[in-house]
Amino acid sequence: METKRPTVPAAEEILGGYFPVLDHGFVSLVDYMGSDEDVERAARVSYGYGTRRVSQTRGLVRYLRRHRHTTPSEMVELKFHCAMPMFVARQWIRHRTASVNELSARYSLMPLLFYTPPRDQFGVQSRANAQGREGGVSDEVWTEAVRRWEELRERAGGAYAWMLEQDVARELARIELPVSTYTQWYWKIDLHNLLHFLSLRVDARAQWEIRQFACVIAGMVKRVAPLSYEAWVDYDLEGRPLTRAERGVLARLLEADEAGVRVRDGAGVPTDGLKEAGLSAREIRELVEKLAPADRPDFELDLARMRSAEDVAQEMYQAVPSTFD
Ligand SMILES: Cc1cc2nc3c(=O)[nH]c(=O)nc-3n(C[C@H](O)[C@H](O)[C@H](O)COP(=O)(O)OP(=O)(O)OC[C@H]3O[C@@H](n4cnc5c(N)ncnc54)[C@H](O)[C@@H]3O)c2cc1C
Repeated sequence: METKRPTVPAAEEILGGYFPVLDHGFVSLVDYMGSDEDVERAARVSYGYGTRRVSQTRGLVRYLRRHRHTTPSEMVELKFHCAMPMFVARQWIRHRTASVNELSARYSLMPLLFYTPPRDQFGVQSRANAQGREGGVSDEVWTEAVRRWEELRERAGGAYAWMLEQDVARELARIELPVSTYTQWYWKIDLHNLLHFLSLRVDARAQWEIRQFACVIAGMVKRVAPLSYEAWVDYDLEGRPLTRAERGVLARLLEADEAGVRVRDGAGVPTDGLKEAGLSAREIRELVEKLAPADRPDFELDLARMRSAEDVAQEMYQAVPSTFD
């Protein structure tokens, strides 16, 4: 016999609220199905809610995540309404395990909202990371870049509005809008695949812009399924798998048994020893990173920033060309 599905108060508090991201974007949790208890129920194929203590649920959720028993977390689903620049959407859409319905620019008028990075995120090409940026751009370059962006956007937006006035089909009028233009979609995904998305997209290697969205979504997951969220932070986000060679190195340094973990007397492995153990220079750098102590990040949402759907819709409507005169 199915009992009534309980709601999760922390998730209910933000349901339908809009959290601003970047200059014109947002994420809203519009619906969810299930929570940590549903992960446990699916794993045990058991009856009834509320029959287990939280500590038991926590233990099981953590065990499942540690051992990659992932299908129970596919029983929990979250549905979001999001607005993001098109170049962010292109990265986001690569995650194939979600259901997506994007605003149709063939059907709807596009709000002419364009993304401009904040000054502190405007960087030069990173020397260390071919896919990254670092600080050090002069104010002159920043000012000129913003001026050029604005000029291009005005021309692209102006051409779009002009074509609409000439009754050119929307699907054609939109083709020259830049990838900084904001688009929107509904995005539904199960908890397992969402946590995979978050692992890749809150990571420092992901582009800063998509990371801002991922961090807000992580804060929402924390409210929907706090035990799964905690296990994800501990095992996936802040956990680091050890390679065979790395385990060999650590075994030379440490001995472990039922009595605990001890440093072997006088043990040490210099860089040459690491190379002999089969680690490349890059793997040695990665091992050093893996062994650094990890803080526990917190993706707590700032409720003071939450806006209503009406507020957000008004900003969008004001930016569609027909209301520009
Ligand atoms: C920092 C970063 C840089 C990136 N750079 C680039 C780049 O330069 N160029 C580029 O093209 N992409 C790039 N990507 C995208 C990346 O290669 C992945 O396509 C993206 O992260 C989605 O990952 P995924 O396939 O694991 O996720 P999902 O599509 O969400 O899939 C989740 C999991 O489902 C399984 N799965 C889904 N579909 C299939 C399938 N058809 N066959 C087998 N298994 C499947 C896989 O196990 C997969 O891990 C980058 C991603 C990141 C995070």
